[in-house]
Amino acid sequence: MKITDLRATTVSVPLEAPLRHANGCHWGRFVRTLIELEADNGLIGLGELGGGGESAESALQGLRPVLLGHDPARLEELRFRLANPTASLYNNRTQIAAAIEFACLDLLGQAWGVPVSELLGGRLRERVPFASYCFFRYADAKTGQGEVRTAAQLLEYARAAKARHGFRTHKLKGGVFPPDYELELYRALAAEFPGDRVRFDPNAVWSAEQAIRFGQAIEGMNNDYLEDPVFGLAGMRRTREKVRVPLATNTVVVNFEQLAANALATAADVILLDTTFWGGIRPCLKAAGVCETFQLGVAVHSSGELGIQLATMLHLGAVLPNLSFAADAHYHHLRDDIIAGGLMPYKDGCLAVPNAPGLGIQLDREKVKEYAEAYRRLGNYAYDQDPGRPGWSALLPNDRWADPRDDRTPTIPR
Ligand SMILES: [Mg+2]
Repeated sequence: MKITDLRATTVSVPLEAPLRHANGCHWGRFVRTLIELEADNGLIGLGELGGGGESAESALQGLRPVLLGHDPARLEELRFRLANPTASLYNNRTQIAAAIEFACLDLLGQAWGVPVSELLGGRLRERVPFASYCFFRYADAKTGQGEVRTAAQLLEYARAAKARHGFRTHKLKGGVFPPDYELELYRALAAEFPGDRVRFDPNAVWSAEQAIRFGQAIEGMNNDYLEDPVFGLAGMRRTREKVRVPLATNTVVVNFEQLAANALATAADVILLDTTFWGGIRPCLKAAGVCETFQLGVAVHSSGELGIQLATMLHLGAVLPNLSFAADAHYHHLRDDIIAGGLMPYKDGCLAVPNAPGLGIQLDREKVKEYAEAYRRLGNYAYDQDPGRPGWSALLPNDRWADPRDDRTPTIPR
């Protein structure tokens, strides 16, 4: 098989409401770049990347001379062509290499008549459990609905998400408001669902001292882990010395150098594997093997996905022997998807691993057209800016918190 064509399409897909995080906001939509690799047998493999609010179309198109004529089965060759570790000091293409790996695996699965999970060692489970992933949210400016800022709003959101999707694990994404305020809301969330698991993630925005203070305050709760309370391996190590809650990361262990450092001197107990951050599904599996050896936990991280990347997360989740936590996904905050059949349905807090050959999903061409048009109209958004606080940016460690009493709704084009 040979790759004969590459198409890249940027889409803007609406969210229920703008999602707030420590460094800014997803402005009521996800901007994602879809990739289609066509092969000489007529098959089309799908990939996806994005998350920072910007299009990656031109970077992908620039790789046409490298990709056309390449055999999608030669994945290791492709890794060095696209993301050689020293060449990457100039052009870091990790996420692009990931999206192309997804499309190649999709092509191979379709050509060989098996789901991607079967190319990766074979699935150990048919369904992958997910966490509720609660965000602080601005209201949708048009409907006035969807705000999550107060304890009452958070609990109302989490109850509805659990009733609708069946989540048994609840994650709160913090780092937006003063830590003591977020602690109060995290405690309220845990108390609301005493039989369920909880986890908290302030996106690495605290000082080590603040991380220790918060970590000690939540000891004894039903925590899966405390995720990235502070940035940097050294800060995580200092926190871990003083806090009896496992620490997880998707920020300071995102490559094999960092994984080696973490194996030699543990900074994080649980490594959150992101199929784009690590450069593909296969690097995540290799990392999971290292984690298995050193008895570190693993889980599946979400960097803000549509159905194509979600499929990669499901195939990964299906084959990880050491998956001992529910996966994260932003997916249930989306209003729609670009895959045939629309949004994948949750059942009992789980998503089914697709069974059709390859990634097991198809594009809905009408939806792609609609949301590509939306992207042309709306353009990029600044992931690291807050539409409610123009001119603001977070420090590290941060002390420029949002005011929990501020109930204004920013106007965002949509
Ligand atoms: Mg995180």
